Amino acid sequence: MTRLHEIIDAHAKASPQAPALRDTLGYRFDFAGYAAASREAAELLSARGVRAGDRVVIVAENCAVIPALIFGASRLGAWAVPVNARMTASEIGRISAHCTPRVTAYTTEASDAARGHAETAGATEVETSFGGVAFGPTDNGSKAETDGDVAILLYTTGTTGDPKGVMLTHDNLVYAGTASRDLRDMVPSDRIYGALPLTHVFGIASMLTAGAITGAEVQLETRFTPAALLDALRDGATVLPAVPQMHALLMKHTAELGIDSLKDAKLRYVSSGAAPLDPAWKRKAEAFYGLPLQNGYGMTESTAGVCGTRNPIGTADISVGPPFPGLEVAIDAPDANGVGEILTRGPHVMKGYYRAPDLTAQTIDADGWLKTGDLGRIDESGNLHVVGRVKELIIRSGFNVYPPEVEAALNDHPAVVQSAVVGRARDGNEDVLAFVETTADDAVTPDALRDFVADSLSNYKRPSAIFIVKKLPAAATGKILKHRLLDAFADRIAELDKE
Ligand code: ATP
Ligand code: MG
Repeated sequence: MTRLHEIIDAHAKASPQAPALRDTLGYRFDFAGYAAASREAAELLSARGVRAGDRVVIVAENCAVIPALIFGASRLGAWAVPVNARMTASEIGRISAHCTPRVTAYTTEASDAARGHAETAGATEVETSFGGVAFGPTDNGSKAETDGDVAILLYTTGTTGDPKGVMLTHDNLVYAGTASRDLRDMVPSDRIYGALPLTHVFGIASMLTAGAITGAEVQLETRFTPAALLDALRDGATVLPAVPQMHALLMKHTAELGIDSLKDAKLRYVSSGAAPLDPAWKRKAEAFYGLPLQNGYGMTESTAGVCGTRNPIGTADISVGPPFPGLEVAIDAPDANGVGEILTRGPHVMKGYYRAPDLTAQTIDADGWLKTGDLGRIDESGNLHVVGRVKELIIRSGFNVYPPEVEAALNDHPAVVQSAVVGRARDGNEDVLAFVETTADDAVTPDALRDFVADSLSNYKRPSAIFIVKKLPAAATGKILKHRLLDAFADRIAELDKE
């Protein structure tokens, strides 16, 4: 088994001066410096009582402190638990209560949100060579785990309910980082633009471990802004892992500046993942970047990558591509259209949910198949199509409605920024409710949108109601938290019921 820090150490020996990491705050490291930073982090943790099998919560926004602590924890055999600082104190509190860390670190220099949490916790500030960080008090009652192979404990987004703690091993992370490097043909001269949060599996696999395994540089951005992304692309970033929303915001920004393409940039690989890719956005983004927009599919429980495309530019394919080499994908109990729950098995499957053996047993069967909770089908070419989530499937008058298809139809309208479709049980049937963010308050009316989607959606798929809203509830990755929609807009829905 290769441990995460050994990857950095190997580069530090072979190419000590190769660029490894830089962040928004101005910290810059070659591989020798990266390895040294992680040793410094290990000493800081060790001085606070951290031993093998202990959990270290990192309340963070992207900056060099996170990789220093992740690789530093690896040196001690401790588990890093990166948590997004933009979560509320009670959300973070629930995660801490669940995993009982020996100590909690806060990325105070990079993040006002983290500083706020640190102050509440009475944490103490420390200056380091990789950025300011504060540590909370050591919990002497926390019990170390004896399983030696977990590197990162990562909580899921919480799209469908409470976040679950996913145990990812060193082997899981090395496999995923290698698969991610190979998918993109990454080389040491690449610079990966890192605005995906390092507190989410997609950022960890596609930026942190893929970069480390390749020996490429990672450029961490504390907070995604389209202006900063544009600067990075003009300044030579070559690989851009992103979520659909980042592309949408970049193109909105560049349109305002009158820039209609990025053809002169050094960018050579652009991807989209973590959420459904809509065909209209794929077309717009490819025209803009002058590159194919690759789609990828994964989840926390599968250490990110399960499938990824390697398409030429302009393909109509919005599948998520074939499975990564060395892992399997199957469809459980397919219906007449070949759609069923996606199963996957291989070296990317998590060790299990932390402190939840029953849930683990329900999720990974005796043969090692992970039940993804997603619905999909595999086409003639062997490409996987994700059509929605099992929990979000709407059954209306006996017909299946997959929310991503309805969302794609809505998003095709030029005034729509993004949308979210959910089912609502009523009178023994299910309504299709759509919540839509638009470019301006009066950019489009619900009636006009209803007419617009009538062209592409058959009757039973059309929304029963369309709500134009200011802001959809979203996680730090931009992913819309659908289970909160019905509560967040309960008043609007109640008004509808009165009509
Ligand atoms: P929770 O499990 O807590 O409800 P979550 O499933 O959103 O939250 P993540 O592990 O961050 O937490 O997200 C993984 C999920 O994201 C997948 O199971 C799938 O539903 C969705 N997803 C990821 N990539 C894609 C993609 N390319 N196309 C469509 N859906 C995707
Ligand atoms: Mg999930």
